[in-house]
Amino acid sequence: MSHVLVIGAGGVGSVAVHKMAMNPHLFSHVTLASRRASKCEAVAASVKRRTGVTIATAALDADDITETTALIAAVKPAVVVNLALPYQDLSIMEACLAAGVNYLDTANYEPLEEARFEYSWQWAYQQRFEAAGLMAVLGCGFDPGVTSVFTAYARKHLLDRIDTLDILDCNGGENGLPFATNFNPEINIREVTAPSRHWENATWVEGKALAHKQVFDFDQVGPRDIYLMYHEELESLARFYPEIRRIRFWMTFSEAYLRHLDVLRNVGMTRIDPVMFEGREIVPLQFLKALLPEPATLGSITHGKTNIGIIATGERAGETKTMYVLNICDHETAYAETGNQAVSYTTGVPAMIGAALMLGGQWKGAGVFNMEQLDPDPFMDLLGQHGLPWQVRQLASPLAF
Ligand code: NDP
Repeated sequence: MSHVLVIGAGGVGSVAVHKMAMNPHLFSHVTLASRRASKCEAVAASVKRRTGVTIATAALDADDITETTALIAAVKPAVVVNLALPYQDLSIMEACLAAGVNYLDTANYEPLEEARFEYSWQWAYQQRFEAAGLMAVLGCGFDPGVTSVFTAYARKHLLDRIDTLDILDCNGGENGLPFATNFNPEINIREVTAPSRHWENATWVEGKALAHKQVFDFDQVGPRDIYLMYHEELESLARFYPEIRRIRFWMTFSEAYLRHLDVLRNVGMTRIDPVMFEGREIVPLQFLKALLPEPATLGSITHGKTNIGIIATGERAGETKTMYVLNICDHETAYAETGNQAVSYTTGVPAMIGAALMLGGQWKGAGVFNMEQLDPDPFMDLLGQHGLPWQVRQLASPLAF
């Protein structure tokens, strides 16, 4: 059975179902469910136009466990692919357990009222998924996701030991807008305004948000400012690769983006606690989200490339080596294929691949799994075949910073 239920009809969900429809030998039936039926129908119409495949759609409030369980029971998928927001992770996991179906997502759970994303809540489901004989795969996007698979690949094929690991995420895309986020604005702003944190000598080192800057020359993009940040995969990589002495995550931001963010933060627009406005409560960040462009609408105006990879320094046959594993993705090519820009594309394609590996049985197990715990080889093979070709380079020396 290769029936899949995708929840969430945003940019990432749209890419995933387009790619599933393009691969009917891997996915015989696709159902797309999301909060607004109109969003599902628009994606289904685009899928039909581009691939000729008809997908089923359904309206769903995935915060409601009973409603979600009922939909899963009616659709009877082999796997539920959660591409809604991190707030829905636990309710969808609960529904998967109740309906007896495997689970996959791309972002770890975060409570609505607190900007604190961590795996503890989802790792707590280990025993229940294991006892039910079900598999839950966490963080199957690009970062987290492919970056953990690149690390597992480097450790399996390129290095006998990894000492330091740097993840470098560059979006070199331009959309001509003064300020827009390339994935869900609320999640994006909560992430980038959090204090920075990296793993060093078995402990977390914390710093002020976006305060530590370096410059890195990205292939096919050019030199860009990169900022030290906390990111989800640091937590699972530190847990599953205790040998790595230092793990850091860097992301590019333009000066204009940071200037806007600074002003928004200074005037209180990024607050996530409710404030009273004309007799009713509003959450400033949710109001700001309503004003900003939806990421799914940026595709047609975004040009340039993303370049995301890992740089691992360690030992191979007694010699110190620095290996760089990366993918470069073009916004316009991604848009031509699925109608979505590269940030949605680089997340939706890995989600599709993870689901295909679960359906095909190449990835199997009972319990909750992070990407670096699974065999990287079949995933790396499919990445190249489905639009995200990767490269391995040996660098002459470790990163200078
Ligand atoms: P969008 O905001 O574009 O899409 C989210 C979708 O989820 C929307 O269609 C929304 O519906 C739907 N949704 C929200 N709440 C509910 C609910 N209660 N029930 C059902 N559906 C709901 O976000 P993206 O597509 O950009 O991102 C999707 C996910 O991917 C996010 O979790 C994000 O954090 C993650 N992500 C992961 C990355 C990675 O590399 N690992 C990178 C980028 C994103 P509606 O349209 O009606 O609001």
